[in-house]
Amino acid sequence: MSTLRFHAIKETFNRPVIDVKEAERRSEVFGKNVFNNGAMRQYLTKDSYKSVQDAVENGSKINRNVADHISTGMKEWAISKGATHYTHWFQPLTGTTAEKHDAFFETTDDGGAIEKFGGGQLVQQEPDASSFPNGGIRNTFEARGYTAWDPTSPAFIYGTTLCIPTVFVAYTGEALDNKTPLLRALQSIDQAATAVAKYFDKNVTKVNPTLGWEQEYFLIDRALAKSRPDINLTGRTLLGHASAKGQQLDDHYFGSITRRVLDYMRDLENECMLLGIPVKTRHNEVAPNQFELAPIFEETNLAVDHNSLLMDVMAKVADRHEFKVLFHEKPFAGVNGSGKHNNWSLATSTGINLLQPGSTPMKNLQFLTFFINTIKAVNDYEELLRASIASASNDHRLGANEAPPAIISVFIGSQLTNVLDELEKVKNGKLSPEDKTDLKLNVVGKIPEILLDNTDRNRTSPFAFTGNKFEFRAVGSTANCAKPMTVLNAIVAKQLIDFKVEVDTLIKDKKMKKDDAIFNVLKGYIKDSKRIRFEGDGYGDAWEKEAKKRKLSNNKTTPEALKAQIFKSTIELYESLGIMSKVEIEARHEIEVEEYAMRIQIEGRVLGDIARNHVIPTSIRYQNLLIENVQGLKDIYGKSFKKYAKEQMNLIEAISNHIETINKGITDMINERKKANGIDNAEKKAFAYCDNVKPYFDEIRYHCDKLELLVDDEIWPLTKYRELLFTR
Ligand code: ADP
Ligand code: MG
Repeated sequence: MSTLRFHAIKETFNRPVIDVKEAERRSEVFGKNVFNNGAMRQYLTKDSYKSVQDAVENGSKINRNVADHISTGMKEWAISKGATHYTHWFQPLTGTTAEKHDAFFETTDDGGAIEKFGGGQLVQQEPDASSFPNGGIRNTFEARGYTAWDPTSPAFIYGTTLCIPTVFVAYTGEALDNKTPLLRALQSIDQAATAVAKYFDKNVTKVNPTLGWEQEYFLIDRALAKSRPDINLTGRTLLGHASAKGQQLDDHYFGSITRRVLDYMRDLENECMLLGIPVKTRHNEVAPNQFELAPIFEETNLAVDHNSLLMDVMAKVADRHEFKVLFHEKPFAGVNGSGKHNNWSLATSTGINLLQPGSTPMKNLQFLTFFINTIKAVNDYEELLRASIASASNDHRLGANEAPPAIISVFIGSQLTNVLDELEKVKNGKLSPEDKTDLKLNVVGKIPEILLDNTDRNRTSPFAFTGNKFEFRAVGSTANCAKPMTVLNAIVAKQLIDFKVEVDTLIKDKKMKKDDAIFNVLKGYIKDSKRIRFEGDGYGDAWEKEAKKRKLSNNKTTPEALKAQIFKSTIELYESLGIMSKVEIEARHEIEVEEYAMRIQIEGRVLGDIARNHVIPTSIRYQNLLIENVQGLKDIYGKSFKKYAKEQMNLIEAISNHIETINKGITDMINERKKANGIDNAEKKAFAYCDNVKPYFDEIRYHCDKLELLVDDEIWPLTKYRELLFTR
């Protein structure tokens, strides 16, 4: 008997209502478990507090003496909140978060004990983390990596543990995590954008890139999810026939949220409030059992940490509600996948959003400067941007159903397209006063302040301007935002540096006025980056053909896409900005291609196991029933039995044919896996898995799914799509 599936289904019938206490007013609980400014003012001396502020705002170093004071204050605060342990919380290259807990507890010489947490423990730790991927950088024999405090992201209490956000680096200085290059990229863009922003306002002293992510996910009943080995081991269903009802009625999108899911969301949001994650929006998504959660945007480093933390909290809260949350980009074939749109902009120390069109021509020239430079950066590094979101799981989504295609393009809407078309006509060299007045009044002056409605129409563009921010939509739901944010901020930083040099040269050598020079340079950029702008629908052959003509990349698989990570231009980019060295870049590439191969390998094994050990034996049992039936009919009807047994006999044959194809597919796939495993070079191995192993998945699945339709439901062992997707 296929007990597991039916046990699981039965378990879902009487899910108790979990009582979620509605929090007090959100404004009162927000950040209660965060060592934020309020807590710091209460627990730190004035000098220590100032020193943290200085580190956050200006990147200054905190000296060891002060660190001792800070750690004492932090410990007192944490203990007052019931914390017993502390951990350096970091983001290794596995893409998740890591932590190793130590107690505050320390024994004393006289046999007693005290709570201890010194500056040394705050600032630096040496987790024995030699098993995290490091792409060969860190010889595990000679040195271990260490974690170092990142004061720009405040410490917080999670459960009973004080978590201190940290970077993770090798003793030789190479970054071993996602945060270190991100922080360096953020510093680069701050410097570059501040310098350019000063053209328009001398008072700007700092520019903060902002990030607002939108996290999509599926919620599946835990018992049902657990009954599927593929979901457990790979995060997605490797087989399963489509449900008779899917998302075609669009009745889930923005629909009313069921009690059980709403309880989960409320519970989750309460936790988020305590942790200072400013979540704001929740709603149903297009696919059944798919949802989205979005926060108020924040400074990018903090927003990245908050998203990583959120994913962890989501999984834990789901446990309490007997759900499993699926972050995989494509957990179910035939219904929408999940993404994580990254909304990005630049905010100045003077409180201005540099991507917000303004009310005066001068403000709009500032807007156009940052707007066009961003487009130019995306144009020049489209392939690297594509690489930043490449993963085995996101490959399923890019191009499928309603997700953006694997071709990077920029959507800006018709109004701004008109503005750029006009600007392109600016003449070379100095502008006459009439030209300038005309330009300012009729082009720059006419950019409407509120573009939001107009620009939000196109939902398929991978990189869209949405009124006052760019929205990088191709990011996958499992992603650590640090990767795309490192690339985006780095390429725009590089672009702004180049822009400033060009403008300054025109001012100095050609004696141009500042705005003439800016117009001239921008005009050139509009021309140079025209190919990246695309306002149409990003699907189908027509766009693929057109993109090819425009020489835009169309890297459909991860190994192909990742190549851009080690292009000469990429190494130059990162080295010139001091973000990563060649060694670090190559190490990361190796880690990612290795991870890709491993993921496909695991999926191949799981699929082989399920098909051979679940699907085929079950199908044979059903076939035996049919054979028995045919045999019986023969006993009763003798020669004329075929008249009654015809359908059964067709079924028997059909089952045998499917079984044969599945078996052959698995055998061939295993052979290809063996061949791939024999390849030493990590990149070549990834290609072998991609090109030679993965193609068997669809074929094996197809025949398993056909058998699911033929075999008696009573004995089918794998929980079906309709059960996974429509149990609420
Ligand atoms: P949607 O894209 O679903 O229509 P919105 O456009 O209102 O929703 O916002 C989506 C996300 O964009 C939110 O997380 C929001 O915080 C973020 N966002 C809004 N303005 C900015 C900005 N200036 N910088 C970064 N993110 C922003
Ligand atoms: Mg959006």
